[in-house]
Amino acid sequence: MTGAGPGPVADGALRVVLLGRQGSGKGTQADRLASLYGVAHVSTGDAFRAAVKSGSSLGRTAQAYMERGELVPDEVVVAVIREHVFGPASPPGFVLDGFPRNLAQAEALEDMAAPRGIDVCIDLEASVDEVLRRLSSRRVCSSCGATYNLVSSPPKVPGRCDVCGGTLYQRDDDTEEAIRRRLEIYEAETAPLIAWYRERGLLASVDGTGSADEVTARVVSAVEAHRARPGPGAG
Ligand code: ADP
Ligand code: ZN
Repeated sequence: MTGAGPGPVADGALRVVLLGRQGSGKGTQADRLASLYGVAHVSTGDAFRAAVKSGSSLGRTAQAYMERGELVPDEVVVAVIREHVFGPASPPGFVLDGFPRNLAQAEALEDMAAPRGIDVCIDLEASVDEVLRRLSSRRVCSSCGATYNLVSSPPKVPGRCDVCGGTLYQRDDDTEEAIRRRLEIYEAETAPLIAWYRERGLLASVDGTGSADEVTARVVSAVEAHRARPGPGAG
């Protein structure tokens, strides 16, 4: 049974992968999609940043890679996903934000998510020029992780989070050099996943420009269009 609009589904909670360049708005849209459908928002970047802050051994491993704008090794990332998304205490549905990021991770996800698989992979499209503009003015709340853009969505009080009053900061990897490096890695390693998901009939490309609300409306229609189609196992 499929419902008429967004909401938890009877035949299995929503399972989505979000792809898109750094600065394409993945984090914001993943957050919104997860609350609309009542599923977990899983961001590997947020998980690593929290681990770095807490000084855990995972954090110490991840930190050096992240500061250089490089990928954390696959086995480390896959272990985190296996535990948080496919472990015994894991939520039934999820929006994956920042995973998978290369072919090996996509194949690992395919194995972990079998037999049901995922419902759809949304590719959030934003040009290099657009994301460079967004990233250089991105600020993040040090307490709750909410993101702001000094140009398009500034906080009400400069330097302070609207949600919790926390201090806003610029991520270490939002320097021009690290941004350039992350975008190169995206083109080389992550962008090929667009074709990989398309071949599997799981891809939906969504225009990531315009207001956050406009983008959310597009993302939700793409999700609904995919859920309305018979899955690979349906007869
Ligand atoms: P962005 O997409 O803007 O680079 P994220 O918050 O998603 O930001 O990720 C920040 C950093 O965390 C990445 O540059 C990388 O070092 C690490 N990271 C996050 N997800 C992964 C992943 N799936 N595989 C490897 N490294 C990752
Ligand atoms: Zn905050």
